[in-house]
Amino acid sequence: MTAPDSMSPPPPPSAPPSSVRVEAAVRHAVASGLLGESSPVAGFVDADGVRESVAALQEAFAGVPGVLHTFAAKAASLVPVLRLLAECGMGCEVASPGELRIALDAGFAPSKIVLDSPVKTRDEIRRALALGVALNADNLDEVDRIAALRPSDAKSAIGLRVNPQVGGGSIGAMSTATATSKFGVALHDPGARERVMEAFAARPWLSRLHAHVGSQGCSLELIVAGIGETYRLAEDINTRLGRPQITCLDIGGGLPVNFADDTVRPTFAAYASALRHAVPGLFDGRYGLVTEFGRSLMAKNGFICALVEYTKDAGGRRIALTHAGAQTATRTVFMPDAWPLRVGAFDADGLPKAGPALVQDIAGPCCFAGDVVAPARELPELRAGDYVVLHDTGAYYFSTPWAYNSLPRPAVYGFGAAAITGQDGLAVRFAPVRDAQSLDSIAAESGLAHADALLKLDA
Ligand SMILES: *Cc1c(COP(=O)(O)O)cnc(C)c1O
Repeated sequence: MTAPDSMSPPPPPSAPPSSVRVEAAVRHAVASGLLGESSPVAGFVDADGVRESVAALQEAFAGVPGVLHTFAAKAASLVPVLRLLAECGMGCEVASPGELRIALDAGFAPSKIVLDSPVKTRDEIRRALALGVALNADNLDEVDRIAALRPSDAKSAIGLRVNPQVGGGSIGAMSTATATSKFGVALHDPGARERVMEAFAARPWLSRLHAHVGSQGCSLELIVAGIGETYRLAEDINTRLGRPQITCLDIGGGLPVNFADDTVRPTFAAYASALRHAVPGLFDGRYGLVTEFGRSLMAKNGFICALVEYTKDAGGRRIALTHAGAQTATRTVFMPDAWPLRVGAFDADGLPKAGPALVQDIAGPCCFAGDVVAPARELPELRAGDYVVLHDTGAYYFSTPWAYNSLPRPAVYGFGAAAITGQDGLAVRFAPVRDAQSLDSIAAESGLAHADALLKLDA
């Protein structure tokens, strides 16, 4: 749908900027009681933001034949979020039986699901093959296992994950292409390339290569270098075999997210253009492409909001005691330098606070001293009854809670914020995405059904 340059199309009706939608959502969530004394913490998903992010990804690859964009389920393992993504035309990348189950519940067609479990059991492989879900083997022993279980009429596309060993990014735990990473076949190890070549020669149904170079902390250059290596291996294999056996490259996800401010950078467009520049052969239609983005699709489309229950001073330091701690921002609390979050200060009516900055610790509700989501942060002075917003937490945060202290999983709500004609402000609608965990559920998960189990052992 390209318009001639001389006749540029009218600008689309402008959607309110994301920061304005967040502020409207906080105000309405407080006003409507979704947040308050008896529900002191919740997560929020901006449904329009999700649609915009998917559109940006699709736009970046527009015109490339045979692209399947899958969403890495672990980044937001919530059925309503997955269903929205399915409706936007996405597929789903899953890495466990649980993720496969919720991807199917969300409505993804098996042909749009890719199973990347790092340690696949025979049962898991059988199920994926029976469904026709694509699989990427992590190693050559797994290829043998798949070969033994694969019916001759299997519909599943099968690939092999490789580790191009291009090096790590700034967060060790997120870097999957180091020399000693646990993922994929380490391509530069002695004899590895030859063994991969032989595996493809022996298994004509092995039709994909998969590389996911890393996640947050890896630069665009590093990701592109890893994909380039994978592409050259595919070219090599097809040339040596004298047939185009590899028909599809799964280039993973891992686009880093800017957590420092509101801007989206790098963009999907920048990613696609860097890739096009470095590996033009990827886009000429000889290979189908699969992408597996997670964080870059969701991070900026969600936030956590928590009540400030008390404030105190200790050793000259102001501390805000809130309900957002390690149970919902686990990585940030344990690795604050790797996963810093922007914190917003809101008053008891859910309005942004102004005022001189004061250095404060934003602490959580867990019983350990390190449970601080933002140490020594400059913010307008927080008081009991105010709220804090942890921005950019739409990926990996509210969907990946930690059960420490038997704290409940917070509720998650989706929201839509639309301008009202002729009025200032936005109308906000909420829909439940996940209910807050109840005390009954906590008791059940704590073995309530087996309460007497340890009293009966010697009888
Ligand atoms: C986690 C993961 C992804 C998604 O990574 P993001 O950094 O969230 O984009 C994609 N592919 C694989 C194999 C993964 O493990």
